Amino acid sequence: MQNVLDLIGATPLVAVTRFDTGPCRLFLKLESHNPSGSIKDRPARAMIEAAEAVGRLQPGGTIVEATAGNTGLGLAFVGARKGYRTMLVVPDKMAREKILHARAMGAEIVVTRSDVGKGHPDYYQDLAQAIADKTPGALYINQFENPANPLAHERATGPEILRQMDGKVDAVVVGVGSGGTLTGIGRFMKRNSPQTKMVLADPLGSVLAPYVRDGVMIDAGSWAVEGIGEDFIPPNADLSLLSAAYSVTDQESFAAARELLAKEGIFGGSSSGTLLAAALRYCRAQSVPKRVVSLVCDSGAKYLSKVFNDAFLAQEGWHGAARTGTVRDLVANPLASGLAIAVRPDDNLRTAFSRMRTADVSQLPVVEGERLVGLVDESDILAALTQAPGDARVFASPVRDVMVTRLETISADAPIRDLLPLFRKDFVAIVMDGDAFLGLVTRIDLINHFRIAMQ
Ligand code: PMP
Repeated sequence: MQNVLDLIGATPLVAVTRFDTGPCRLFLKLESHNPSGSIKDRPARAMIEAAEAVGRLQPGGTIVEATAGNTGLGLAFVGARKGYRTMLVVPDKMAREKILHARAMGAEIVVTRSDVGKGHPDYYQDLAQAIADKTPGALYINQFENPANPLAHERATGPEILRQMDGKVDAVVVGVGSGGTLTGIGRFMKRNSPQTKMVLADPLGSVLAPYVRDGVMIDAGSWAVEGIGEDFIPPNADLSLLSAAYSVTDQESFAAARELLAKEGIFGGSSSGTLLAAALRYCRAQSVPKRVVSLVCDSGAKYLSKVFNDAFLAQEGWHGAARTGTVRDLVANPLASGLAIAVRPDDNLRTAFSRMRTADVSQLPVVEGERLVGLVDESDILAALTQAPGDARVFASPVRDVMVTRLETISADAPIRDLLPLFRKDFVAIVMDGDAFLGLVTRIDLINHFRIAMQ
């Protein structure tokens, strides 16, 4: 290839062989193989080139978009390669990995609230429109209404699927973010393979699947899966193309993505989990053999800290342990012991500091074998450093010299309200299971506990 942009599309299609697909065969199209890593490279290039073709985007121009991630990455990638400035307005629930990736490609990121709806000036789409209006030479891409978005899938993704399936496709299972994938593939199939049914995979909480199934607009809830599900019906989403719609919980989506990697070796993100879960339900519900296609929309590498992180799943209450109403429910990751992130008394302060930094925590238990002997936190390290300014030996000194050894502990079986007086004077509660150290609980764990209880 002479140009990396020509690597967009022509993605591989792989058979799923290690799941129960009922009487059906299931195939996944790996859109994660696009150069910036997702299904959105195709429409990103198409929308930019459509604007160039009509002179809406001139050399030195600015691309502005409201995006929860992959569209922004695609635009930043194509924009950088073609020499445009890219500004992305992102809601604050977006994965950090995607923001870092977009910034690294030169995009400017404007983070906005994710708790306001359409019509509010801070809503990401309204804000993107406002930024484009006041920036000379700027174009608001607006993937939700831009006809080049579905057209990219109608011209390329759809035909690729039909060719790769030797012309025999009974159903395609898709998610809807902007609706580009659904409308593009759906329109192509309607003309070229009219027996092919389009099936929606939607996160529970999104308004789309209930609208398709029952024709009613529900109040949108919230969901953790990124890139699909909506609180409105995007103009680019032609829902009349759909024959069926499934709502999938976050927990089921995450589990499906993990199983896809563990069983098939296919590394997809959270929305790919939603699509797989819905595709499996569809396949198992059939009474005659069918050939079904779904998509791996992006790579799991973007979601390592969520989908593939046991501690995150435990914090969401998805680890399978029964709720007890006691402090035990809060220990960050009951799957791993509290010994997982700890130091020994003979470890030096440099080790303690790098473990805190890597695990993003402010304090560490100090353990000897299974026994808890102390606690070291940021203020202990800082005090040692300021007592001997500039002395590099401080980092080499042992944790034993600075750790706190007078420890107040709480039993894992204590009721949760017993944490409140502890948190009034200390930042951290040391949780014991009898004589064994179980883990640390901080205020953020308690806040998270209240959040989960309200869901
Ligand atoms: N999966 C992911 C991870 C996405 O980022 C997107 C795009 N928002 C989609 C699926 C859905 O694509 P579309 O915008 O074409 O509906």
